[in-house]
Amino acid sequence: MCTLCPRHCVVEEGKRGYCEVRENRGGIYYSLVYGNPCAVHIDPIEKKPFFHILPSSSVFSLATAGCNFDCKFCQNWEISQARPEETFNYELPPEEVIKMAKEFHCSSIASTYVEPMIFYEYMYDIGRLAYKEDILNVCHSNGYINSKPLRALCKYLDAACIDLKAFSEKFYREVTEGSLSPVLETLKILREEGIHTEIVNLVIPTKNDNLKMMK
Ligand code: SF4
Repeated sequence: MCTLCPRHCVVEEGKRGYCEVRENRGGIYYSLVYGNPCAVHIDPIEKKPFFHILPSSSVFSLATAGCNFDCKFCQNWEISQARPEETFNYELPPEEVIKMAKEFHCSSIASTYVEPMIFYEYMYDIGRLAYKEDILNVCHSNGYINSKPLRALCKYLDAACIDLKAFSEKFYREVTEGSLSPVLETLKILREEGIHTEIVNLVIPTKNDNLKMMK
């Protein structure tokens, strides 16, 4: 069983979990995307969106293929719902990511665009190296991760931007194929661990714009 996220996938030998980027090889779920991002950009930090850290700075942003949600409104579906062999991927080990972030004067590195927890090991190693170079390691996440790996990641995580897509299990089930309670648990853990956290609530008219629910 893969214990990284609340899906707890159990698949046959040689098969992949829901996210399509972790494969069962002899009972161990291996990442198929380590060091191989399909999206690499330099963005303003406000695009992540972070509004309360490093204002007006540049952030080295990356993503691999795959996601543990299937949001019907995803704007990055071409990579989030793709298998790694369906995207054009760069060869960019963590050391190279740090080198490029420095070269382009980025004060932070963001794992973003898809759900970054599915490339956990890559994000973790980038954070470990960034820590030594005084570069912030940040992420934009759906918060759908189990508590043990999340707490371990917090050691090398400076800030998290978490999507709280709705305050409704029904919405999560029907529109994202995920669930709300693990996301709320993630928010609690980030607070406990003292990680700077900002919340995004993307409003989709008629789906999650009930004012009472938002309040
Ligand atoms: S990370 Fe991927 S393989 Fe692991 S439980 Fe989540 S969806 Fe399944």
